[in-house]
Amino acid sequence: MLKNLKFHVSNSIMTLFLHMLKRNFQGQNLTLKTDRKRLLVTTVLKEIELLEKLSNAFGPSGNEEDVAEILKTELEEYADETRVDKLGNIFFYHNGKEGYPKVMLSAHMDEVGFIVTFIEENGFLRFETLGGITNNILLGQRVLLKGEKGYLKGIIGTKPPHIMTLEEQNKVIPREDLFIDIGADNFNQAQEKGAEVGTLGVFDVEFTDIGDGYFRGKAFDDRAGCTVLAEAFKSMKDSPYNIVAVGSVQEELGLRGARTAAWQVDPDYGLALEGTFVADVPNTRPDRVSSKIKGGPVITILDKTVFTHPVILKTLIKVGREEAIPFQFKKVPMGGTDAGAIHLTKAGVPSGTVAVPCRYIHGPASIMHIEDLRNAIKLVTEFIKAISVK
Ligand SMILES: [Zn+2]
Repeated sequence: MLKNLKFHVSNSIMTLFLHMLKRNFQGQNLTLKTDRKRLLVTTVLKEIELLEKLSNAFGPSGNEEDVAEILKTELEEYADETRVDKLGNIFFYHNGKEGYPKVMLSAHMDEVGFIVTFIEENGFLRFETLGGITNNILLGQRVLLKGEKGYLKGIIGTKPPHIMTLEEQNKVIPREDLFIDIGADNFNQAQEKGAEVGTLGVFDVEFTDIGDGYFRGKAFDDRAGCTVLAEAFKSMKDSPYNIVAVGSVQEELGLRGARTAAWQVDPDYGLALEGTFVADVPNTRPDRVSSKIKGGPVITILDKTVFTHPVILKTLIKVGREEAIPFQFKKVPMGGTDAGAIHLTKAGVPSGTVAVPCRYIHGPASIMHIEDLRNAIKLVTEFIKAISVK
């Protein structure tokens, strides 16, 4: 009885306290996260809350539905029209005033991952990678597979170092010698658990706030871009500009979704939003660093798929300087983005790329900083305004 009463009192005080706090935070870009059991109240920046959801979502190339659903929940109320095409690309239309150009923003929803190619008699799964994952980071990683009956947790294994020769211990083990262990005794049990040839997987890494504005998580390439896409689109709700925000599919397999998406949108300008590689780490020659964390959003001049159109490049530089938004150029012309597909659509579309700098992309987990994310959102928002009134 006494215990119950105590609970009621603390519960109502907690409710009152939360109410007061919520009023205080109204209009600010913060969400209150409450854990009543531990009487814990924390504030989370709205864009980080979204990034967390997107980063934790399961979305290897060809299986982007969960990511599309998160974007839909986030953006549907801001869009004049929302639709999904036959390949799975999701489109959010903001219909502005006549006479303004149509700007397409594209962020790919897929992440690098795995596909099961064979099940061994003893229950181990052979696999191929989806997208560019190098062999030297595969061994020992935790993976999450989406099986017929739900998620399966596993580890990428090989034989133990104790029985390796010294030479074997020091070399990168080829992917052909690795396998995924899901804790199945044999072929039948692996199948009973829901593993099949064609089952897809991703790295199994939870989004974590590691302090001082830094975040660690999987798939920042391109869930960081998806976050920029969402926040920039939301900020344009009452604007007169014509914007189509696209969550594209299968970028990691060769910019496939953006190709058909751009054909449908038929935009005047295209901007791919990305999470790009950073090499501001030990043992890197200065000219190979390409971009730095906290250096601001990364503007591509040239990569393997696009030469940024001068109109796009000049506009990005101009708004960056005028609005005092820090930015940096991508200095190593490697990789590719949706802009590579968009700019070759129909008679050609002036296109470019803005990216959030992220360390260790195409690996199990990346690190990024909130400053870069926020500045990328600002730069993209100002870019839309400037290119629309040109
Ligand atoms: Zn990417």
